[in-house]
Amino acid sequence: KIPVASLDEGNCDNDYAEYLFDIIPSLKSNRNVNYYNPAFIPLPEKKRSSFPVKINNALICIGGEDPANLLLKSAVALAKNNVHVLAVASSKEKIFEAEKNIPDDLKKYISISSPIENLKEELFKYDLVVTHFGFTAFEAAGAGCAVILLGTTPLHIRLSVANGFKCLAPKKINQKNFKSLLIQPENLLIKNKVESSENLASFTKKLSLGSHFECPVCKTGEGFRNKVIARNKNRTYRKCSNCGMIYMSWTLSEFQTEYNHAYFFEDYKKQYGKTYLDDFNSIKSVCLRRISIIDFFYRLTNRISKNIPSVLDIGCAMGPFLSAANDSGWQVFGADISQSAVEYVQQTLNFPASCVSFPDADFVSEFGIEKFDAVTMWYVIEHFKNLDSVLKKVSEIVKDGGIFAFSTPSASGVSGKYSSDDFYEKSPADHYTIWETKCAKKILRKYGFKVVKVVSTGIHPERFPLAKKMKWSSKSLPMKVLADLCKVLKLGDTFEVYCKKIKS
Ligand SMILES: [Zn+2]
Repeated sequence: KIPVASLDEGNCDNDYAEYLFDIIPSLKSNRNVNYYNPAFIPLPEKKRSSFPVKINNALICIGGEDPANLLLKSAVALAKNNVHVLAVASSKEKIFEAEKNIPDDLKKYISISSPIENLKEELFKYDLVVTHFGFTAFEAAGAGCAVILLGTTPLHIRLSVANGFKCLAPKKINQKNFKSLLIQPENLLIKNKVESSENLASFTKKLSLGSHFECPVCKTGEGFRNKVIARNKNRTYRKCSNCGMIYMSWTLSEFQTEYNHAYFFEDYKKQYGKTYLDDFNSIKSVCLRRISIIDFFYRLTNRISKNIPSVLDIGCAMGPFLSAANDSGWQVFGADISQSAVEYVQQTLNFPASCVSFPDADFVSEFGIEKFDAVTMWYVIEHFKNLDSVLKKVSEIVKDGGIFAFSTPSASGVSGKYSSDDFYEKSPADHYTIWETKCAKKILRKYGFKVVKVVSTGIHPERFPLAKKMKWSSKSLPMKVLADLCKVLKLGDTFEVYCKKIKS
């Protein structure tokens, strides 16, 4: 049950690993790894002082059997461009054969050598290194040499190009093609920087300090069996095969937001261009819609009740929902872990509020109330690592026939569906669960809730691949149709769930 990180694991069936990490570029182009960084190849200590402005000498090092005789072919092509070449042959026979075949007029340019010991630290002596895609290519780039690769297969050519190298197919090895590459050596400086501030040791240490999580609903301890949904440098997400919840199963560094004064003022303003209080009325208007839905479903079941219904908003922040619910005739209670938010609710809005963390809070001692008619969480539920205890506690404190309502980002929205990698990459580091509209029902059922309404919000038709491609304006007819479709098909990037506590 110990999380596994796997380095340059070639196997495709590797969902068991929490972290996949490639240094050696993979030959399987569709591999989904958390991190790929060839810069972790240990680079030479001896480096050129500057990148060559003209190629005067070259090292050719292609190793192996070389059945197509690429070594001599490229040595000759370079020599014809007046480049002095040291060609490394793999055996005595190869040296003998190559030396025999050097044209007389090029003999002053070409030397054949046996394999060079500690080649890595010799590379800096050359303006140009010609090799296959592999370690030597990255080492040569790291030594500050110009690099040309010989692509023996279409895959090698693709990999070379993808990593920023110039590459010649065997059939293209001739004087003319080398000339066109040599004419501007700066083009042979590889684009992807091989220098890195991180090294393998420091990165591995960082990796060892990462955190692993099981499905927060089922907590099976068998998380490694769950399908991996997304991998990125910092995190891995899985989908629980038991309950269907998508959850963060690995994170490089745990993230703690401090919900202090700055969160609602300076930091909020940095992110949204205004403070939380500037936004209060627009958030409140959304909350008026939410409480009207809650009110509707509450009264459907509790027609005869003449009492003023009570609602507890968990993560109430500075109270826009409390204010909306109060205006709608509900008795409101707030809970938040931010002291400054709670003080604002108590002193400025004059509503009862308590600075407690959920689910540990005891609302009998806080408010003298054991069960509420409704409990709400607006963009809060995804922040809990211990969702099972949270939902158990919510179930305990909602009256039978009462309402539990929450909003959260949706994995089944346009962004989650069509730009999945980007969606998970951008998912905040403190979102431990990512809900899908279709799985919510089954999960909530487990805690005694029946979903009565799902509202798709965060409607962004412009995020549809088709809309991006067609560049439709936001007011155009197809965009309006797409927006309607988003709502009907529940493809919004966020959603609200309203559920009723089943009478036990
Ligand atoms: Zn689960």
